[in-house]
Amino acid sequence: MSTAKLSTSDSFEQALEFAKAALIGMTISSVAPTPENFLVWYTHIAGRNPNLSHMISILVDNKQEITNSISRDIHDRFFATSIEDDALHETAERINEELRNIMNYIGETGEGVTKYGETLHAATGELSVADEPAGLKEVIGRVLNETQKMEDINNRLEQKLTDSTSEVSQLREDLEDMRKETLTDALTGISNRKMFDMELRRAARDAMESGEDLSLMMVDIDLFKKFNDTFGHQVGDEVLKLLAGTLAKSVKGTDIAARYGGEEFAIILPGTNLDGAYSVGESIRTRISTKKLINRQTNTDLGKVTISAGIAQFDFGEKMSDFIGRADQALYTAKNLGRNRVVSQVDMEKDALSFD
Ligand code: GH3
Ligand code: MG
Ligand code: MG
Repeated sequence: MSTAKLSTSDSFEQALEFAKAALIGMTISSVAPTPENFLVWYTHIAGRNPNLSHMISILVDNKQEITNSISRDIHDRFFATSIEDDALHETAERINEELRNIMNYIGETGEGVTKYGETLHAATGELSVADEPAGLKEVIGRVLNETQKMEDINNRLEQKLTDSTSEVSQLREDLEDMRKETLTDALTGISNRKMFDMELRRAARDAMESGEDLSLMMVDIDLFKKFNDTFGHQVGDEVLKLLAGTLAKSVKGTDIAARYGGEEFAIILPGTNLDGAYSVGESIRTRISTKKLINRQTNTDLGKVTISAGIAQFDFGEKMSDFIGRADQALYTAKNLGRNRVVSQVDMEKDALSFD
């Protein structure tokens, strides 16, 4: 656990000072002294993580109270993934160790081979001078003996290599499972934000290389707070799963549907221009808005859920934040225009003209 790391690097007195200051800071800001929050505050006060401290200073400078939930977010951002990274690192380290074992063993076998060679060489010399059966028998016996040893070494090496190969492929599978887990959203099973960020950067790079279009769609459930308030958060979660499944089914080959956060989703559409993206968005929007939701357990009619979507097309060379920002702006416009609609950046440009 990451908390264990704290005690090893500070002296008792220093750690006590940091801990006291962290608790005082937490009390002043009414942050609950949970282990996660404490980790955030201690790390900040001990100056262990400049990025974390930078984030806290921005909040303080902007007179933002560091509430319980902000503290928890900071924890998840800086520590939750580092726990996963630790696991990845550990597995990679085990693979390395296994490879080192094999190399050592091959080294030892090499010595065995050299010794065998020497024995054979010496025997050849002795054979030419051995003129009586007893001497000959003794030399041959020695050679046979060494040959037997060599065979044992070979068998052991073969066994060792077989064991190591299966151990390494097991570790490789574990590593792949862990990688998938860190890139998948636990609730919906589709790509998470981390995967989205990686894939968007990759798609932008590919688009610049190939000169192909690239579009991005941001999707947000309409009035979802009200839905949760009416039917409960758990039913809301089921809707998120249903929507994620619909998005995943609605996109083709290289497209990526991801949960961007909360009740917001994103779809990366390589090789697609605004018109193409608009039809994808419209088809998803219609599919969702025409479905009647029924809670099968309680046989309750949950009415219908609608979504709004914003679409942007990538300008080669622009920053990812600008690209996402444009899609977000279009989504915002869709909400303002009354929800349950798809708006593209072009529609906004038209609007901007008419308002000017
Ligand atoms: P708008 O049409 O403007 O998007 O309205 P909204 O109510 O959807 O928007 P708002 O941002 O005010 O609220 C988003 C709500 O989404 C808040 C929260 O209840 C819900 N939500 C976010 N994440 C989850 C989640 O993981 N599960 C559930 N069930 N609800 C979530
Ligand atoms: Mg919403
Ligand atoms: Mg939202």
